[in-house]
Amino acid sequence: MLNVAKFGGTSVADFEAMLRCAHIIKNQPETKLAVLSASAGVTNALVTLAQTFIDDDTRADIINQIRVIQHNITRHLDCEELLNLKIEQILSELKQLSDLQNTLQTAQTGDAILACGEQMSTLIFTEVMKSLDVECYYFDVRNVMLTDSMYGKASVDVTELKSRCQQLLLPLIEKGVVITQGFMGQDEHNHTTTLGRGGSDYSAALLAEATGADSLAIWTDVVGIFTTDPRISNKARPIPEISFGEAAEMATFGAKILHPATLIPAMRSDIPVFVGSSKDPQAGGTKISQTVDYRPTYRAVALRREQTLVTVKSPAMLHASGFLAKVFEILANHQLSIDLITTSEISVALTFDNPLGSTQALITQNVVEELEQLCEVSVEHGLSLVAVIGNDLDATEGLGANVFENISNVNIRLICHGASPNNLCFLVNENDANQVVKTLHDKLFVASGE
Ligand code: ADP
Ligand code: ASP
Ligand code: MG
Repeated sequence: MLNVAKFGGTSVADFEAMLRCAHIIKNQPETKLAVLSASAGVTNALVTLAQTFIDDDTRADIINQIRVIQHNITRHLDCEELLNLKIEQILSELKQLSDLQNTLQTAQTGDAILACGEQMSTLIFTEVMKSLDVECYYFDVRNVMLTDSMYGKASVDVTELKSRCQQLLLPLIEKGVVITQGFMGQDEHNHTTTLGRGGSDYSAALLAEATGADSLAIWTDVVGIFTTDPRISNKARPIPEISFGEAAEMATFGAKILHPATLIPAMRSDIPVFVGSSKDPQAGGTKISQTVDYRPTYRAVALRREQTLVTVKSPAMLHASGFLAKVFEILANHQLSIDLITTSEISVALTFDNPLGSTQALITQNVVEELEQLCEVSVEHGLSLVAVIGNDLDATEGLGANVFENISNVNIRLICHGASPNNLCFLVNENDANQVVKTLHDKLFVASGE
């Protein structure tokens, strides 16, 4: 039996947290591969280094903040000195990369910067495991996680991953517990890449698939998947069991608990997933599997922030064919992926997610100018997408009344329903988003007792 366990940023934030995770592994002999995020706060600091032109002092401060986070863990270990030397090597590489980034600003250097956090947390965690007398090995995931060169959102070569895992990783797993990095990979030119923010969940699922694991456990800071983000509503309730399809839908629509792509490998290879809290491993969690007995109409409310709405309008669209194809071609040429779409006679509204989580304008002036050759264009930011996730929503009487009744005072910018039986979603202003989620969650899950 092989279980792959993924530990997120808060689970490896400090020494106590790491120790809890080490005990989880020690208590589960089938857990032979652990995939780690960077310690909480480290990736955000690295994002600042990777994205902005900042003065030397500020850059030195940021690197020092990262050093402090890591030293606060290493000081509890007997091998502190040796470990700090290894951390210092990574930090000095980071300093060089950040110097380079400050002058050149390339996506390639950006990814090399972002990947430093996972390298440090895994080095340290390996020693925490060893301090519990567990036979364990540090493994650089770049040896197996071959990706393309789309820095910041690289795609993994799943076939190559599988064959390299059979060759390099499985023999090590035979010998002891293997500790490796989530989130990062390497392209064919041996440049470090990353899979997108929150990507460690996805790495773990890919590695579970590639090693033929029997199960995957995602250890995080909440006791499973809730009916909505517990940080938004204190009435959110944990979901004991959920299907791959429903959980994937939640992740796609912004439930941060899982990276949106996590369930693709799990579904493809039918690997059951458990989501639980590393702070309270005895508290149970959510089991995600192919089918579940209970398929409620309403499963959850999800929220995705930082959405962009583009409206294109042209009288030439009336009864004309081929107009949308031209719009789509322009967007495809700029590698923009449309999220939602609604149309009326002479106008079309399109939404765009910002998967890199940055506020940088997705729709550049170039895109707008090219679209303006065809039509009038308006671009709106500051919007959030609220999604009601459930089952058979296309055949649910009274759905509209149920969803919109208690939020009639809110300006709804766009509604999408009908394409999928599993969701109804709409855009609201960022400022209204939390309240809308709370009210909607109360209406669907608290008042109705669903
Ligand atoms: P990790 O660092 O372990 O990957 P994340 O911060 O990425 O953890 O994800 C866990 C967080 O996801 C929770 O603290 C919670 O605020 C948020 N979250 C959003 N939606 C949900 C949901 N439906 N159920 C549980 N947690 C959710
Ligand atoms: N450390 C990365 C991030 O914060 C990846 C992850 O935690 O999943 O986005
Ligand atoms: Mg996460």
